Amino acid sequence: MARSVVVTGSTSGIGLGIARAFAAEGANVIINGFGKAEEIEAARAELDSLSTGRVLYHGADMTKPDEIADLIATAAREFGTVDVLVNNAGIQHVSKIEDFPVEKWDQLIAILLSSAFHTMRHTIPLMKKAGKGRIINVASAHGLVASPFKSAYVAAKHGVLGLTKTAALELAETGITVNAICPGYVLTPLVEKQIPDTARERGISEEAVKTDVMLRLQATKEFVSIEEVAQTALFLASDAARQITGTHITIDGGWTAQ
Ligand code: NAD
Repeated sequence: MARSVVVTGSTSGIGLGIARAFAAEGANVIINGFGKAEEIEAARAELDSLSTGRVLYHGADMTKPDEIADLIATAAREFGTVDVLVNNAGIQHVSKIEDFPVEKWDQLIAILLSSAFHTMRHTIPLMKKAGKGRIINVASAHGLVASPFKSAYVAAKHGVLGLTKTAALELAETGITVNAICPGYVLTPLVEKQIPDTARERGISEEAVKTDVMLRLQATKEFVSIEEVAQTALFLASDAARQITGTHITIDGGWTAQ
C-alpha cells in the first residue's frame, strides 16, 4: 500500500523537493505552505502526476496549533494514517538581538520549533497504532553551530535537535524513528531573501554575502542541492535506516567539520 507522507512547508524549496521525491516513489502526500493559489495547485498537480498515489494540499499555518491538528487529521482521514512526517516549514529573520522584533522572534520559534511539537503530538498516536513510522525534522547546520544576527533561527534549530533526541528515546521501542537533517546553505527562496538583509547588517555587497559569508564555511565552496536533501529524507524513511534514531545527518559541504 502507498505510504502516507506529510511534509510541512512544501510549496517551495526543500519541502517541495522532499514531497516530490516521495511522490515519485508512489506515496500519498500532503503538501502544505503558503503561496499563490495557482502556483500551489500547479505544484500539487505536478506531484500528483508523478505519484501512483494521491497528492493533496492543506494550507495549515504552522503558527496555529488548531490548523496543525487539522492537517494531521486530514492525512488520517484521507490516507488512513501518517507513515512519514517531515517537519520542514521555515522562515528566517536576520537582525541584531537588540533590534530583533519581538513578534518575529515569536513567529520563528512557532514555525521552526513549536510546529514540530504540534505535528508530532498528533501524529505519534497514529504511528503507534500502526507500529511503525518515520519522523524527519529538517533542522540546519545552524542546529549545531551559530552565526551572528540569526538568534531566533539558531535557537529554534538547536531546539529541534533536542526535540528530535527526546522523541527518539520516547519512541525507541515502538518502531518509530525520529531524526534530523542538517543542511548547510541550499539556494532556495528562504536563502535568496536573506541576502539583502545580511549585506546590510554586515555592510558588504550581496555577491560577497554568497562567497564570503554563506560559502566561507562550506568547505566544498558549493551550495547543497534540494535533491541531495530530499534523497537523505528518502534514506531516513527507508528500511535500511531502521536502527538510525535520535541523531542527525549533516549535508553541509564540511561546514561543521571545522
Ligand atoms: P523556502 O522559503 O523555499 O520554503 C519554506 C516553506 O515553508 C514554504 O513552503 C513556505 O510557504 C512554508 N512556510 C513558511 N511559513 C509557514 C507557516 N507559517 N505555515 C506553513 N508553512 C509555512 O525555504 P527552504 O530553504 O526550502 O527551507 C525549508 C526548511 O529548510 C526550513 O526549515 C529551513 O530552516 C531549512 N533549511 C534551509 C536551508 C537553506 O539554505 N535553504 C539550510 C538549512 C535548513
